[in-house]
Amino acid sequence: MIKVEKIYKSFGNLQVLKGVDLEVNKGEIVSIVGPSGAGKTTLLMIMGTLEKADAGKVYFNDNDLGRLEEKELSDFRNKNIGFVFQFHQLLPEFTALENVMIPALIGNRKRSEAEKKAKELLHMMGLTGRMDHKPAELSGGEKQRVAVARALINDPLVVLADEPSGSLDTQNKAELHRLFFELRDKLNQTFVIVTHDEQLASLTDRTIHLQDGKIFQPEQLLSQKQT
Ligand code: ADP
Repeated sequence: MIKVEKIYKSFGNLQVLKGVDLEVNKGEIVSIVGPSGAGKTTLLMIMGTLEKADAGKVYFNDNDLGRLEEKELSDFRNKNIGFVFQFHQLLPEFTALENVMIPALIGNRKRSEAEKKAKELLHMMGLTGRMDHKPAELSGGEKQRVAVARALINDPLVVLADEPSGSLDTQNKAELHRLFFELRDKLNQTFVIVTHDEQLASLTDRTIHLQDGKIFQPEQLLSQKQT
């Protein structure tokens, strides 16, 4: 469903990605791991069209996103890509419900429809009694679950998550991880997750190791060592 092909990216003299290829199928949960500074976030941002590659292509269902104009691209992103960051990035002046509705309203959906969908999602996240609270009145785990509901409001093709449980304690971490798998089982939702959390990575369907700007397969290294 998502294909990135021969992605190159430098910041000044620093070559961060040196020809990365990756395919993600519908309903798959893929984790991206690797040392700090390996380019994991940069790759995720390029997949999410928030960052432009110097060379290479990003396809969603065979649609070459590089061909879209800026306005089309931002509409495409709002409709089809959900983001979850390490820090929830909810808007403090709005309630949980309003925060979840915002991407739907940006996408010109009817307010009543957006509200209905946002309530369903918050209910699914176990936040039925917390919808009218503002972010400051919610715990860290609750805020992250609101951020997940917000990422899902437009039924995106994929949710891209950057260290989603990085700011949470052990119990909230486990709860958030369980939620990702539940969403995959219930909604066939696709996730690409950048994480340092080895436990989370070990639970995902596939783990991509990024090192020195390339995808590195530990199995390949093992087989090279044997020869
Ligand atoms: P990771 O997520 O694996 O820790 P990043 O993708 O965040 O790695 O960053 C890879 C490298 O690129 C780092 O050395 C980082 O400092 C650098 N980098 C990332 N974004 C920028 C930017 N906007 N400008 C300059 N350097 C950047």
